[in-house]
Amino acid sequence: GQKEIKNFLEKIIEDDLAAGRVPGNTIVTRFPPEPNGYLHIGHIKSICINFGLAQKYGGRCHLRLDDTNPEKEDMEYINAIKNNVRWLGFDWGELEYHASDYYQHLYEIAVRLIHEGKAYVDSLSAEDMRAYRGTLTEPGKNSPDRERSVEENLRIFQEMKDGKHPEGSYTLRAKIDMASPNMNLRDPALYRIKFASHPRTGDAWCIYPMYDYTHPISDAIEGITHSFCTLEFEDHRPAYDWATAIDGINHTPHQYEFARLNISYFIMSKRKLLFLVKEGYVKGWDDPRMPTISGIRRRGYSPEAMKDFVSRVGVAKVEGVVDYSLMEFCVREDLNKRAHRRMVVLDPVTVIIDNYPEGQIEYVESENNPEAPDAGVREVPFGRELYIEREDFMEVPPKGYHRLYIGGEIRLKNAYYITARSVVKDADGTVTEVHCTYDPQSRGGETPDGRKVKGTSHWVAAATAVDCEVRQYDKLFATENPGAATGNFLDDINPDSLTVITHGKAEPSVLDFAPGDHLQFLRNGYYTPDSGDWSKEHPVFNRTVTLKDSWAK
Ligand code: ATP
Ligand code: MG
Ligand code: MG
Repeated sequence: GQKEIKNFLEKIIEDDLAAGRVPGNTIVTRFPPEPNGYLHIGHIKSICINFGLAQKYGGRCHLRLDDTNPEKEDMEYINAIKNNVRWLGFDWGELEYHASDYYQHLYEIAVRLIHEGKAYVDSLSAEDMRAYRGTLTEPGKNSPDRERSVEENLRIFQEMKDGKHPEGSYTLRAKIDMASPNMNLRDPALYRIKFASHPRTGDAWCIYPMYDYTHPISDAIEGITHSFCTLEFEDHRPAYDWATAIDGINHTPHQYEFARLNISYFIMSKRKLLFLVKEGYVKGWDDPRMPTISGIRRRGYSPEAMKDFVSRVGVAKVEGVVDYSLMEFCVREDLNKRAHRRMVVLDPVTVIIDNYPEGQIEYVESENNPEAPDAGVREVPFGRELYIEREDFMEVPPKGYHRLYIGGEIRLKNAYYITARSVVKDADGTVTEVHCTYDPQSRGGETPDGRKVKGTSHWVAAATAVDCEVRQYDKLFATENPGAATGNFLDDINPDSLTVITHGKAEPSVLDFAPGDHLQFLRNGYYTPDSGDWSKEHPVFNRTVTLKDSWAK
Protein backbone atom coordinates (compact mmCIF):
# COMPACT_ATOMS: atom_id res chain seq x y z
CA GLY A 1 0.00 0.00 0.00
CA GLN A 2 0.83 3.66 -0.06
CA LYS A 3 3.07 4.95 2.67
CA GLU A 4 1.20 7.23 5.03
CA ILE A 5 2.73 10.67 5.32
CA LYS A 6 2.77 11.78 8.93
CA ASN A 7 2.28 15.39 9.93
CA PHE A 8 4.59 16.94 12.48
CA LEU A 9 2.15 16.53 15.36
CA GLU A 10 1.80 12.81 14.62
CA LYS A 11 5.58 12.53 14.58
CA ILE A 12 5.81 14.24 17.96
CA ILE A 13 3.25 11.86 19.45
CA GLU A 14 4.87 8.78 17.95
CA ASP A 15 8.31 9.83 19.18
CA ASP A 16 6.95 10.48 22.67
CA LEU A 17 5.19 7.12 22.75
CA ALA A 18 8.25 5.29 21.43
CA ALA A 19 10.52 6.95 23.99
CA GLY A 20 8.17 6.11 26.86
CA ARG A 21 7.60 9.78 27.65
CA VAL A 22 3.81 9.45 27.83
CA PRO A 23 2.38 8.53 31.26
CA GLY A 24 0.41 5.29 31.00
CA ASN A 25 1.23 5.32 27.28
CA THR A 26 -2.04 7.19 26.80
CA ILE A 27 -2.27 10.37 24.77
CA VAL A 28 -4.56 12.96 26.36
CA THR A 29 -5.54 16.05 24.37
CA ARG A 30 -8.17 18.72 24.87
CA PHE A 31 -10.19 21.04 22.71
CA PRO A 32 -10.37 24.27 24.73
CA PRO A 33 -12.78 26.83 23.29
CA GLU A 34 -13.60 29.97 25.19
CA PRO A 35 -17.41 30.22 25.33
CA ASN A 36 -17.44 33.84 24.16
CA GLY A 37 -18.99 33.16 20.76
CA TYR A 38 -19.89 30.41 18.32
CA LEU A 39 -17.24 28.14 16.86
CA HIS A 40 -16.06 28.92 13.34
CA ILE A 41 -14.50 26.88 10.54
CA GLY A 42 -11.03 27.48 11.99
CA HIS A 43 -12.08 25.65 15.12
CA ILE A 44 -12.94 22.61 13.00
CA LYS A 45 -9.24 22.23 12.35
CA SER A 46 -8.47 22.33 16.05
CA ILE A 47 -11.30 19.89 16.80
CA CYS A 48 -10.08 17.46 14.14
CA ILE A 49 -6.51 17.69 15.44
CA ASN A 50 -7.36 17.21 19.10
CA PHE A 51 -10.14 14.63 18.80
CA GLY A 52 -8.64 13.07 15.68
CA LEU A 53 -5.16 12.46 17.14
CA ALA A 54 -6.57 11.12 20.41
CA GLN A 55 -8.69 8.69 18.39
CA LYS A 56 -5.83 7.70 16.13
CA TYR A 57 -3.46 6.89 19.00
CA GLY A 58 -6.02 5.28 21.29
CA GLY A 59 -6.04 8.15 23.76
CA ARG A 60 -8.74 10.54 24.86
CA CYS A 61 -9.74 14.12 24.23
CA HIS A 62 -11.35 16.41 26.77
CA LEU A 63 -13.81 19.11 25.94
CA ARG A 64 -12.58 22.02 28.05
CA LEU A 65 -14.58 25.18 28.24
CA ASP A 66 -11.97 27.83 28.86
CA ASP A 67 -14.24 30.16 30.77
CA THR A 68 -12.16 32.83 32.47
CA ASN A 69 -13.65 36.02 30.98
CA PRO A 70 -17.08 36.06 32.64
CA GLU A 71 -18.35 39.25 31.06
CA LYS A 72 -17.98 37.86 27.55
CA GLU A 73 -19.21 34.34 28.19
CA ASP A 74 -22.65 32.84 28.03
CA MET A 75 -24.52 29.55 28.45
CA GLU A 76 -25.86 29.99 24.91
CA TYR A 77 -22.29 29.70 23.63
CA ILE A 78 -21.50 26.68 25.79
CA ASN A 79 -24.55 24.85 24.43
CA ALA A 80 -23.76 25.80 20.84
CA ILE A 81 -20.15 24.62 21.20
CA LYS A 82 -21.24 21.20 22.46
CA ASN A 83 -23.85 20.89 19.77
CA ASN A 84 -21.30 21.83 17.07
CA VAL A 85 -18.65 19.34 18.24
CA ARG A 86 -21.24 16.55 18.29
CA TRP A 87 -22.45 17.51 14.83
CA LEU A 88 -18.90 17.03 13.56
CA GLY A 89 -19.11 13.49 14.89
CA PHE A 90 -16.84 13.73 17.94
CA ASP A 91 -17.78 12.54 21.37
CA TRP A 92 -16.08 13.56 24.61
CA GLY A 93 -18.30 11.22 26.65
CA GLU A 94 -18.00 12.20 30.31
CA LEU A 95 -14.88 14.24 29.66
CA GLU A 96 -16.38 17.71 29.89
CA TYR A 97 -14.32 20.14 31.92
CA HIS A 98 -14.44 23.82 32.70
CA ALA A 99 -11.56 26.06 33.65
CA SER A 100 -13.96 27.48 36.22
CA ASP A 101 -13.96 24.07 37.95
CA TYR A 102 -10.40 24.90 38.98
CA TYR A 103 -10.97 28.35 40.47
CA GLN A 104 -10.48 27.18 44.06
CA HIS A 105 -7.46 25.08 43.13
CA LEU A 106 -5.91 27.93 41.14
CA TYR A 107 -6.53 30.29 44.03
CA GLU A 108 -4.75 27.97 46.46
CA ILE A 109 -1.77 27.70 44.15
CA ALA A 110 -1.65 31.51 43.94
CA VAL A 111 -1.64 31.80 47.72
CA ARG A 112 1.21 29.31 47.82
CA LEU A 113 3.14 31.33 45.27
CA ILE A 114 2.72 34.41 47.46
CA HIS A 115 3.97 32.47 50.50
CA GLU A 116 7.01 31.42 48.52
CA GLY A 117 7.70 34.98 47.39
CA LYS A 118 6.90 34.09 43.79
CA ALA A 119 3.88 36.33 43.37
CA TYR A 120 2.97 39.82 44.54
CA VAL A 121 0.08 42.22 44.59
CA ASP A 122 0.68 45.21 42.36
CA SER A 123 -1.15 48.53 42.50
CA LEU A 124 0.23 49.94 39.26
CA SER A 125 -2.48 51.16 36.91
CA ALA A 126 -2.87 49.29 33.64
CA GLU A 127 -1.22 52.21 31.88
CA ASP A 128 1.79 52.30 34.21
CA MET A 129 2.09 48.55 34.03
CA ARG A 130 2.44 48.83 30.27
CA ALA A 131 5.07 51.52 30.62
CA TYR A 132 7.04 49.52 33.20
CA ARG A 133 6.91 46.46 30.98
CA GLY A 134 9.51 47.82 28.54
CA THR A 135 9.69 46.87 24.88
CA LEU A 136 11.20 44.14 22.78
CA THR A 137 14.48 46.04 22.70
CA GLU A 138 14.39 47.49 26.22
CA PRO A 139 14.11 45.63 29.50
CA GLY A 140 11.22 46.48 31.80
CA LYS A 141 11.42 48.09 35.24
CA ASN A 142 10.43 46.54 38.53
CA SER A 143 7.20 47.80 39.99
CA PRO A 144 7.57 49.70 43.28
CA ASP A 145 5.29 46.99 44.75
CA ARG A 146 7.51 44.12 43.72
CA GLU A 147 9.12 43.89 47.15
CA ARG A 148 5.89 44.14 49.14
CA SER A 149 6.03 41.77 52.12
CA VAL A 150 4.48 38.32 51.98
CA GLU A 151 2.12 39.25 54.83
CA GLU A 152 0.87 42.34 53.05
CA ASN A 153 0.50 40.47 49.75
CA LEU A 154 -1.55 37.78 51.49
CA ARG A 155 -3.73 40.35 53.22
CA ILE A 156 -4.47 42.38 50.09
CA PHE A 157 -5.03 39.29 47.94
CA GLN A 158 -7.55 38.07 50.50
CA GLU A 159 -9.23 41.49 50.45
CA MET A 160 -9.32 41.37 46.63
CA LYS A 161 -11.08 38.03 46.85
CA ASP A 162 -13.46 39.41 49.45
CA GLY A 163 -14.54 42.20 47.14
CA LYS A 164 -12.97 44.99 49.17
CA HIS A 165 -11.12 46.61 46.25
CA PRO A 166 -12.47 48.08 43.04
CA GLU A 167 -11.67 46.74 39.57
CA GLY A 168 -8.30 47.89 38.32
CA SER A 169 -6.97 48.75 41.78
CA TYR A 170 -4.77 45.67 42.18
CA THR A 171 -3.52 42.70 40.24
CA LEU A 172 -1.66 39.64 41.39
CA ARG A 173 1.53 39.15 39.37
CA ALA A 174 4.08 36.38 39.11
CA LYS A 175 7.55 37.47 40.14
CA ILE A 176 9.65 36.17 37.26
CA ASP A 177 11.97 38.56 35.41
CA MET A 178 11.27 42.12 34.22
CA ALA A 179 14.30 41.89 31.92
CA SER A 180 13.33 38.64 30.22
CA PRO A 181 13.67 38.76 26.43
CA ASN A 182 10.24 37.11 26.41
CA MET A 183 7.66 39.78 27.22
CA ASN A 184 5.25 37.19 28.59
CA LEU A 185 7.72 36.41 31.39
CA ARG A 186 7.96 40.02 32.58
CA ASP A 187 5.96 39.41 35.73
CA PRO A 188 2.73 38.35 34.00
CA ALA A 189 -0.57 39.07 35.72
CA LEU A 190 -2.11 36.01 37.37
CA TYR A 191 -5.33 37.55 38.68
CA ARG A 192 -7.44 40.61 38.11
CA ILE A 193 -10.47 41.98 39.90
CA LYS A 194 -13.74 41.70 37.96
CA PHE A 195 -17.15 42.24 39.47
CA ALA A 196 -18.83 40.13 36.84
CA SER A 197 -21.28 37.31 37.18
CA HIS A 198 -19.92 34.09 35.71
CA PRO A 199 -22.21 31.78 33.70
CA ARG A 200 -21.28 28.87 35.97
CA THR A 201 -19.87 30.24 39.23
CA GLY A 202 -22.24 33.19 39.45
CA ASP A 203 -21.04 35.75 41.97
CA ALA A 204 -18.83 33.40 43.95
CA TRP A 205 -15.70 35.08 42.65
CA CYS A 206 -14.69 38.66 41.95
CA ILE A 207 -11.09 37.82 41.11
CA TYR A 208 -10.50 35.84 37.94
CA PRO A 209 -7.33 34.04 36.84
CA MET A 210 -5.58 35.00 33.59
CA TYR A 211 -5.30 32.73 30.56
CA ASP A 212 -1.52 32.15 30.80
CA TYR A 213 -1.92 31.00 34.38
CA THR A 214 -5.17 29.06 34.00
CA HIS A 215 -4.57 27.15 30.81
CA PRO A 216 -1.35 25.29 31.66
CA ILE A 217 -2.51 24.44 35.17
CA SER A 218 -5.86 23.20 33.83
CA ASP A 219 -3.93 21.01 31.39
CA ALA A 220 -1.79 19.69 34.24
CA ILE A 221 -4.78 18.98 36.50
CA GLU A 222 -6.49 17.02 33.73
CA GLY A 223 -3.38 15.03 32.85
CA ILE A 224 -3.20 16.43 29.33
CA THR A 225 -0.09 15.09 27.60
CA HIS A 226 -0.15 17.14 24.39
CA SER A 227 -1.58 20.64 24.48
CA PHE A 228 -2.08 21.72 20.87
CA CYS A 229 -2.76 25.35 20.07
CA THR A 230 -2.29 27.86 17.29
CA LEU A 231 0.93 29.68 16.45
CA GLU A 232 0.06 32.92 18.22
CA PHE A 233 0.68 31.06 21.48
CA GLU A 234 4.27 30.19 20.60
CA ASP A 235 5.47 33.25 22.53
CA HIS A 236 3.45 32.09 25.50
CA ARG A 237 5.13 28.70 25.71
CA PRO A 238 7.75 29.91 28.25
CA ALA A 239 4.90 31.18 30.46
CA TYR A 240 3.16 27.82 29.97
CA ASP A 241 6.30 26.00 31.06
CA TRP A 242 6.74 28.34 34.03
CA ALA A 243 3.23 27.56 35.27
CA THR A 244 3.49 23.79 34.90
CA ALA A 245 6.80 23.88 36.76
CA ILE A 246 5.24 25.45 39.88
CA ASP A 247 6.10 23.34 42.94
CA GLY A 248 3.38 20.85 43.76
CA ILE A 249 2.15 20.43 40.20
CA ASN A 250 3.12 16.89 39.44
CA HIS A 251 2.14 16.37 35.85
CA THR A 252 3.93 18.18 33.02
CA PRO A 253 1.97 18.67 29.82
CA HIS A 254 3.67 20.15 26.75
CA GLN A 255 2.42 22.78 24.38
CA TYR A 256 2.82 22.45 20.60
CA GLU A 257 1.74 25.04 18.07
CA PHE A 258 0.27 24.60 14.59
CA ALA A 259 -0.85 27.13 11.96
CA ARG A 260 -4.34 28.56 12.13
CA LEU A 261 -6.74 27.84 9.34
CA ASN A 262 -7.44 30.98 7.32
CA ILE A 263 -9.71 30.94 4.27
CA SER A 264 -9.88 33.59 1.57
CA TYR A 265 -13.08 35.72 1.59
CA PHE A 266 -13.66 34.74 5.22
CA ILE A 267 -13.03 36.34 8.55
CA MET A 268 -12.44 34.03 11.49
CA SER A 269 -12.44 36.04 14.60
CA LYS A 270 -15.18 35.62 17.15
CA ARG A 271 -14.91 39.29 18.01
CA LYS A 272 -15.66 40.37 14.43
CA LEU A 273 -18.32 37.71 13.98
CA LEU A 274 -20.02 38.91 17.17
CA PHE A 275 -19.99 42.42 15.74
CA LEU A 276 -21.73 41.24 12.55
CA VAL A 277 -24.41 39.56 14.66
CA LYS A 278 -24.89 42.43 17.12
CA GLU A 279 -25.07 45.11 14.47
CA GLY A 280 -27.49 43.13 12.33
CA TYR A 281 -25.27 42.60 9.28
CA VAL A 282 -26.41 38.98 9.42
CA LYS A 283 -29.47 37.40 10.98
CA GLY A 284 -27.67 35.59 13.79
CA TRP A 285 -24.74 33.33 14.57
CA ASP A 286 -26.34 30.62 12.46
CA ASP A 287 -27.00 32.82 9.44
CA PRO A 288 -26.08 30.59 6.48
CA ARG A 289 -23.51 33.19 5.33
CA MET A 290 -21.58 33.02 8.58
CA PRO A 291 -18.36 30.98 8.76
CA THR A 292 -19.62 29.51 12.02
CA ILE A 293 -20.25 25.79 12.34
CA SER A 294 -23.91 26.61 13.03
CA GLY A 295 -23.98 28.77 9.90
CA ILE A 296 -22.43 26.30 7.49
CA ARG A 297 -24.63 23.56 8.89
CA ARG A 298 -27.75 25.62 8.23
CA ARG A 299 -26.38 26.38 4.79
CA GLY A 300 -26.11 22.67 4.04
CA TYR A 301 -22.40 21.88 4.38
CA SER A 302 -21.91 18.39 5.80
CA PRO A 303 -19.50 17.34 8.57
CA GLU A 304 -17.94 14.84 6.15
CA ALA A 305 -17.17 17.58 3.64
CA MET A 306 -15.61 19.77 6.31
CA LYS A 307 -13.47 16.97 7.70
CA ASP A 308 -12.31 16.18 4.19
CA PHE A 309 -11.48 19.86 3.67
CA VAL A 310 -9.48 20.12 6.88
CA SER A 311 -7.58 16.96 6.05
CA ARG A 312 -6.73 18.23 2.55
CA VAL A 313 -5.44 21.48 4.06
CA GLY A 314 -3.17 19.47 6.34
CA VAL A 315 -1.28 20.43 9.47
CA ALA A 316 1.67 22.74 9.14
CA LYS A 317 3.73 25.18 11.11
CA VAL A 318 3.51 28.00 8.60
CA GLU A 319 0.56 30.32 8.46
CA GLY A 320 -1.16 30.58 5.07
CA VAL A 321 -4.50 31.34 3.45
CA VAL A 322 -6.47 28.50 1.92
CA ASP A 323 -8.52 29.28 -1.14
CA TYR A 324 -12.25 29.36 -0.55
CA SER A 325 -12.76 27.29 -3.68
CA LEU A 326 -11.05 24.28 -2.08
CA MET A 327 -13.72 24.24 0.61
CA GLU A 328 -16.50 24.52 -1.98
CA PHE A 329 -14.86 21.76 -3.99
CA CYS A 330 -15.03 19.46 -0.95
CA VAL A 331 -18.66 20.39 -0.34
CA ARG A 332 -19.59 19.61 -3.97
CA GLU A 333 -17.66 16.32 -3.95
CA ASP A 334 -19.58 15.18 -0.93
CA LEU A 335 -23.00 16.44 -1.99
CA ASN A 336 -22.65 15.02 -5.47
CA LYS A 337 -22.59 11.57 -3.91
CA ARG A 338 -25.42 12.04 -1.46
CA ALA A 339 -27.84 14.70 -2.73
CA HIS A 340 -31.07 13.59 -4.37
CA ARG A 341 -31.83 15.40 -7.60
CA ARG A 342 -35.03 17.35 -7.91
CA MET A 343 -36.46 19.75 -10.48
CA VAL A 344 -37.12 23.25 -9.22
CA VAL A 345 -37.69 26.26 -11.45
CA LEU A 346 -36.36 29.41 -9.83
CA ASP A 347 -37.50 32.02 -12.37
CA PRO A 348 -40.58 30.50 -13.97
CA VAL A 349 -42.17 31.20 -17.31
CA THR A 350 -45.30 29.24 -18.23
CA VAL A 351 -45.21 26.72 -21.08
CA ILE A 352 -48.50 25.49 -22.50
CA ILE A 353 -48.47 22.40 -24.67
CA ASP A 354 -51.41 23.02 -26.99
CA ASN A 355 -51.64 19.47 -28.36
CA TYR A 356 -51.50 17.78 -24.93
CA PRO A 357 -54.86 16.71 -23.46
CA GLU A 358 -56.32 19.24 -21.08
CA GLY A 359 -56.54 18.06 -17.45
CA GLN A 360 -54.32 15.03 -18.02
CA ILE A 361 -51.48 14.21 -15.63
CA GLU A 362 -48.97 11.44 -16.31
CA TYR A 363 -45.87 10.39 -14.43
CA VAL A 364 -42.37 10.10 -15.79
CA GLU A 365 -39.72 8.10 -14.03
CA SER A 366 -36.60 9.98 -12.90
CA GLU A 367 -33.40 8.85 -11.23
CA ASN A 368 -32.85 10.27 -7.76
CA ASN A 369 -29.09 10.35 -8.11
CA PRO A 370 -27.15 9.08 -11.13
CA GLU A 371 -24.01 9.01 -8.91
CA ALA A 372 -25.66 6.66 -6.41
CA PRO A 373 -27.58 3.79 -8.05
CA ASP A 374 -29.04 2.80 -4.67
CA ALA A 375 -30.83 6.13 -4.48
CA GLY A 376 -33.64 4.74 -6.67
CA VAL A 377 -36.18 6.51 -8.84
CA ARG A 378 -39.28 8.63 -8.42
CA GLU A 379 -42.34 9.44 -10.51
CA VAL A 380 -42.57 13.06 -11.55
CA PRO A 381 -45.95 14.47 -12.62
CA PHE A 382 -46.16 15.95 -16.13
CA GLY A 383 -49.07 17.91 -17.65
CA ARG A 384 -50.24 20.37 -20.25
CA GLU A 385 -49.10 23.43 -18.36
CA LEU A 386 -45.53 23.58 -17.11
CA TYR A 387 -42.90 25.96 -15.83
CA ILE A 388 -39.42 26.25 -17.25
CA GLU A 389 -36.68 28.76 -16.40
CA ARG A 390 -37.26 32.10 -18.07
CA GLU A 391 -33.67 32.05 -19.31
CA ASP A 392 -34.36 28.76 -21.10
CA PHE A 393 -36.56 30.53 -23.64
CA MET A 394 -35.86 33.35 -26.11
CA GLU A 395 -38.21 34.68 -28.70
CA VAL A 396 -35.38 35.61 -31.02
CA PRO A 397 -32.32 33.55 -30.19
CA PRO A 398 -28.73 34.64 -30.72
CA LYS A 399 -26.57 32.38 -32.87
CA GLY A 400 -25.71 29.10 -31.19
CA TYR A 401 -28.60 29.22 -28.69
CA HIS A 402 -29.62 25.64 -27.91
CA ARG A 403 -32.55 26.21 -25.62
CA LEU A 404 -36.15 26.94 -26.51
CA TYR A 405 -37.08 29.53 -29.17
CA ILE A 406 -39.89 29.96 -31.64
CA GLY A 407 -39.56 27.08 -34.10
CA GLY A 408 -36.84 25.40 -32.04
CA GLU A 409 -37.11 22.02 -30.32
CA ILE A 410 -35.76 20.98 -26.90
CA ARG A 411 -36.05 17.99 -24.62
CA LEU A 412 -37.84 18.27 -21.30
CA LYS A 413 -35.76 16.20 -18.92
CA ASN A 414 -37.06 12.59 -18.73
CA ALA A 415 -40.27 13.63 -20.54
CA TYR A 416 -40.93 14.81 -24.11
CA TYR A 417 -39.56 16.95 -26.93
CA ILE A 418 -41.37 20.25 -27.32
CA THR A 419 -41.28 22.92 -30.03
CA ALA A 420 -42.19 26.54 -29.30
CA ARG A 421 -44.86 28.01 -31.59
CA SER A 422 -45.97 31.38 -30.21
CA VAL A 423 -45.94 33.60 -27.14
CA VAL A 424 -48.39 35.65 -25.09
CA LYS A 425 -47.06 38.88 -23.56
CA ASP A 426 -48.31 41.29 -20.95
CA ALA A 427 -48.63 45.05 -21.43
CA ASP A 428 -44.91 45.58 -20.72
CA GLY A 429 -43.91 43.10 -23.37
CA THR A 430 -42.85 40.42 -20.88
CA VAL A 431 -43.52 36.90 -22.10
CA THR A 432 -46.16 35.27 -19.88
CA GLU A 433 -46.86 32.08 -21.85
CA VAL A 434 -44.91 30.10 -24.37
CA HIS A 435 -47.22 27.98 -26.49
CA CYS A 436 -45.65 24.75 -27.69
CA THR A 437 -46.46 21.44 -29.26
CA TYR A 438 -44.99 18.15 -28.10
CA ASP A 439 -44.09 14.97 -29.92
CA PRO A 440 -45.99 12.12 -28.21
CA GLN A 441 -43.40 9.65 -29.59
CA SER A 442 -40.53 11.30 -27.72
CA ARG A 443 -41.50 10.07 -24.24
CA GLY A 444 -38.43 9.39 -22.12
CA GLY A 445 -36.24 11.66 -24.24
CA GLU A 446 -35.78 9.88 -27.59
CA THR A 447 -37.74 9.53 -30.83
CA PRO A 448 -38.06 6.60 -33.29
CA ASP A 449 -36.44 8.70 -36.03
CA GLY A 450 -33.45 9.33 -33.77
CA ARG A 451 -33.38 13.08 -34.42
CA LYS A 452 -31.15 15.10 -32.16
CA VAL A 453 -32.09 17.99 -29.95
CA LYS A 454 -29.30 19.91 -28.30
CA GLY A 455 -30.99 21.47 -25.28
CA THR A 456 -32.50 19.76 -22.27
CA SER A 457 -34.46 21.80 -19.74
CA HIS A 458 -35.76 20.97 -16.31
CA TRP A 459 -39.43 21.73 -15.77
CA VAL A 460 -42.22 21.52 -13.24
CA ALA A 461 -45.88 20.67 -13.94
CA ALA A 462 -48.03 23.62 -12.93
CA ALA A 463 -50.98 21.56 -11.63
CA THR A 464 -48.88 19.91 -8.90
CA ALA A 465 -46.15 22.53 -8.42
CA VAL A 466 -45.14 23.40 -4.89
CA ASP A 467 -44.42 27.07 -4.31
CA CYS A 468 -41.23 27.62 -2.40
CA GLU A 469 -38.93 30.30 -1.12
CA VAL A 470 -35.35 29.89 -2.22
CA ARG A 471 -32.53 31.80 -0.53
CA GLN A 472 -29.65 32.21 -2.90
CA TYR A 473 -26.63 32.68 -0.70
CA ASP A 474 -23.32 33.97 -1.89
CA LYS A 475 -20.13 35.02 -0.12
CA LEU A 476 -20.56 37.41 2.78
CA PHE A 477 -17.43 39.31 1.74
CA ALA A 478 -16.61 40.41 -1.78
CA THR A 479 -12.82 40.49 -1.42
CA GLU A 480 -10.30 37.77 -0.66
CA ASN A 481 -8.93 39.52 2.40
CA PRO A 482 -11.79 41.49 3.94
CA GLY A 483 -10.62 44.82 5.28
CA ALA A 484 -7.18 44.68 3.65
CA ALA A 485 -7.70 47.81 1.52
CA THR A 486 -9.31 50.16 4.04
CA GLY A 487 -8.59 48.58 7.39
CA ASN A 488 -12.31 48.03 7.96
CA PHE A 489 -13.74 44.63 7.10
CA LEU A 490 -17.24 46.11 6.87
CA ASP A 491 -16.19 47.97 3.72
CA ASP A 492 -15.88 44.64 1.94
CA ILE A 493 -19.28 43.21 2.78
CA ASN A 494 -20.84 41.78 -0.37
CA PRO A 495 -24.13 43.66 -0.92
CA ASP A 496 -25.46 40.70 -2.92
CA SER A 497 -24.74 37.95 -0.43
CA LEU A 498 -28.43 37.00 -0.32
CA THR A 499 -31.09 37.04 -3.05
CA VAL A 500 -34.47 35.73 -2.03
CA ILE A 501 -36.65 34.01 -4.60
CA THR A 502 -40.23 33.93 -3.36
CA HIS A 503 -41.89 32.23 -6.29
CA GLY A 504 -39.83 29.12 -6.97
CA LYS A 505 -41.79 26.18 -8.41
CA ALA A 506 -40.85 22.71 -7.31
CA GLU A 507 -41.92 19.18 -8.10
CA PRO A 508 -44.11 17.94 -5.22
CA SER A 509 -41.64 15.42 -3.77
CA VAL A 510 -39.46 18.23 -2.37
CA LEU A 511 -41.86 18.11 0.56
CA ASP A 512 -40.45 14.67 1.47
CA PHE A 513 -37.29 16.39 2.68
CA ALA A 514 -36.53 18.13 5.95
CA PRO A 515 -33.76 20.26 7.43
CA GLY A 516 -30.52 18.27 7.49
CA ASP A 517 -31.25 16.73 4.06
CA HIS A 518 -29.35 17.65 0.94
CA LEU A 519 -30.79 18.13 -2.54
CA GLN A 520 -29.49 19.05 -5.92
CA PHE A 521 -31.87 21.25 -7.86
CA LEU A 522 -31.00 20.18 -11.39
CA ARG A 523 -28.85 22.74 -13.16
CA ASN A 524 -29.23 25.20 -10.25
CA GLY A 525 -27.06 23.99 -7.39
CA TYR A 526 -27.16 22.18 -4.06
CA TYR A 527 -29.84 23.10 -1.57
CA THR A 528 -31.07 22.22 1.89
CA PRO A 529 -34.36 22.90 3.71
CA ASP A 530 -33.78 25.85 6.04
CA SER A 531 -33.65 24.67 9.64
CA GLY A 532 -35.07 27.93 10.95
CA ASP A 533 -38.02 28.61 8.68
CA TRP A 534 -38.92 25.37 6.91
CA SER A 535 -42.49 24.09 6.98
CA LYS A 536 -44.51 21.98 4.55
CA GLU A 537 -46.91 24.92 4.17
CA HIS A 538 -44.07 27.31 3.42
CA PRO A 539 -41.02 25.42 2.21
CA VAL A 540 -37.78 27.40 2.36
CA PHE A 541 -34.55 26.21 0.78
CA ASN A 542 -31.03 27.54 1.26
CA ARG A 543 -28.54 27.37 -1.55
CA THR A 544 -25.55 25.50 -0.17
CA VAL A 545 -23.27 25.93 -3.17
CA THR A 546 -23.58 26.37 -6.90
CA LEU A 547 -22.84 23.41 -9.17
CA LYS A 548 -19.64 24.90 -10.53
CA ASP A 549 -17.25 27.55 -9.37
CA SER A 550 -19.03 30.48 -10.95
CA TRP A 551 -17.37 33.24 -8.95
CA ALA A 552 -16.04 35.90 -11.31
CA LYS A 553 -12.45 36.59 -10.35
P1 ATP B 1 -10.72 33.70 17.69
O1 ATP B 1 -9.40 34.38 17.74
O2 ATP B 1 -11.24 33.41 16.35
O3 ATP B 1 -11.74 34.38 18.53
P2 ATP B 1 -9.78 31.93 19.66
O4 ATP B 1 -8.46 31.34 19.38
O5 ATP B 1 -9.86 33.04 20.63
O6 ATP B 1 -10.47 32.27 18.30
P3 ATP B 1 -10.73 29.79 21.25
O7 ATP B 1 -12.12 29.56 21.67
O8 ATP B 1 -9.77 30.19 22.29
O9 ATP B 1 -10.81 30.85 20.10
O10 ATP B 1 -10.18 28.56 20.43
C1 ATP B 1 -10.19 27.22 20.85
C2 ATP B 1 -9.10 26.49 20.16
O11 ATP B 1 -9.26 26.58 18.75
C3 ATP B 1 -7.76 27.10 20.48
O12 ATP B 1 -6.85 26.05 20.76
C4 ATP B 1 -7.38 27.83 19.24
O13 ATP B 1 -5.98 27.85 19.08
C5 ATP B 1 -8.08 27.04 18.15
N1 ATP B 1 -8.38 27.88 17.00
C6 ATP B 1 -8.99 29.08 17.00
N2 ATP B 1 -9.04 29.60 15.76
C7 ATP B 1 -8.45 28.69 14.94
C8 ATP B 1 -8.17 28.65 13.54
N3 ATP B 1 -8.52 29.64 12.72
N4 ATP B 1 -7.53 27.56 13.05
C9 ATP B 1 -7.19 26.55 13.86
N5 ATP B 1 -7.41 26.53 15.19
C10 ATP B 1 -8.03 27.59 15.73
MG1 MG C 1 -8.67 31.80 23.03
MG1 MG D 1 -9.91 35.20 20.39
